[in-house]
Amino acid sequence: MKLNDPTLLHVDSYINGGWVAGKTRFAVTNPANGEVIAEVADLGSAEVTAAIDAAVPAQKAWAKRTAKDRAMVMRKWYDLVMANAEDLAVILTTEMGKPLAEAKGEIAYGASFIDWFAEEARRVCGDVLETPQADKRLLTFKQPIGVFGAITPWNFPIAMITRKVAPGIAAGCACVLKPAEQTPLSALALAELAERAGLPAGIMNIVTGMNAPAIGETMCADDRIRKMTFTGSTEVGRILMRQSADSVKKMSLELGGNAPLLVFDDADLDKAVTGAMMSKFRNAGQTCVCANRIFVQDGIYDAFAKRLAEATDALQVGNGMTDGVEQGPIINDQGLAKIKRHVEDAVGKGAILLTGGKPHALGGTFFEPTVLTEMTSDMQLFREETFGPVAALFKFNDEDDAIAMANDSEFGLAAYLFTENAARLFRVSEALEFGIVAVNTGIFSSEVGPFGGLKNSGLGREGSKYGIDEFLEIKFVCVGM
Ligand code: ADP
Repeated sequence: MKLNDPTLLHVDSYINGGWVAGKTRFAVTNPANGEVIAEVADLGSAEVTAAIDAAVPAQKAWAKRTAKDRAMVMRKWYDLVMANAEDLAVILTTEMGKPLAEAKGEIAYGASFIDWFAEEARRVCGDVLETPQADKRLLTFKQPIGVFGAITPWNFPIAMITRKVAPGIAAGCACVLKPAEQTPLSALALAELAERAGLPAGIMNIVTGMNAPAIGETMCADDRIRKMTFTGSTEVGRILMRQSADSVKKMSLELGGNAPLLVFDDADLDKAVTGAMMSKFRNAGQTCVCANRIFVQDGIYDAFAKRLAEATDALQVGNGMTDGVEQGPIINDQGLAKIKRHVEDAVGKGAILLTGGKPHALGGTFFEPTVLTEMTSDMQLFREETFGPVAALFKFNDEDDAIAMANDSEFGLAAYLFTENAARLFRVSEALEFGIVAVNTGIFSSEVGPFGGLKNSGLGREGSKYGIDEFLEIKFVCVGM
């Protein structure tokens, strides 16, 4: 890996402002070629506890500093992340596989949360409430929740960290974070830059390790951790929630999705095809908001399918470090196997392949960008998130049927719809049981919009003016006169 600043590449965990090697190590590999990139510290429960020991006093001191003071450290961190964006993108692509241009986009997106919450820190306001009794005065204070645990996934190795850590430290909290075992290097580089920005020891602790269940359990069992924030599978989210029940922690959970994308006859075909391509194939389909089920009205179905297949066919697949590549490898064999299973199941039950459908000639975990038509609700893909580059088209005739099919899922994270009819836009947006509805666009994420889901997709909202509330407690102060 060629970096302008090789000191960004850390392989030890970052606890209480120091780099901790531990006794054993685990390999991080490049999914594009299977090469081992680094041997990273394999830590566990003992180090999580040591990190919490450090975080508790550090948090108290951090919370005492003014919001303006905390914001200045964060602003410096933001500047350093942006100044090192090229290197961070190279690290990200090498450990995760997404095309370098997408990695650069993620660095800017990830950094935007640091910038945003540095500002939000200064706008945390309690209230003076109108009193119902003349001899009392009623106030609210907003105070940091304390030390929080964070567990993040591999698909956005930078942004999923900053979306949690930035609001937390802005609010005056400290964290113990476990990054995904596939992508610890991005997390450690962020810690290096936070340290350079002047973030005090113990505020952002990063524990790397292979034994995620032990690390998670130790965080959840510790009373001193007052909140867990997690992005990943619904299954693991449930485990963390159960494990946090005894200490009654506040939870933020960003879990699985099964995004519907609805294209109505009155859609602008160009916008619908472009939007579907962006939503479906970004990150090789490995995001929890990627369109999983594409419902297309019968009048526009054939034209849309043809155009989508042409655009899909034209996608450049390869190593994310190669210029012009638009789709990298799938993260690992397990991910690849699920994609294959979904395609085989669909074809076995009558789906038609317009393009793709099998592992790519490049080998490894590369998979062909794929379009399937004639999909039906008895196919596995209808219920489960594929997390891969497979566009699956379902035909519908009636708006109510389309809404019912879209809502027929245990998940409720993101939904998309394409229509030029204003009344339909509002009607369908209101009827969709999803936390996010994107209209006539395939991309909606920014630091300003609240990100989060309904039903089994999770709890809480990240980013936006609401995101910092997840890390604050409201204290009611009643003063007798
Ligand atoms: P994915 O399919 O994206 O890998 P996971 O939910 O398995 O989704 O992983 C998301 C994060 O949760 C990763 O950091 C992973 O190491 C961690 N993780 C996996 N299993 C557990 C567990 N039992 N307890 C705590 N964290 C876990």
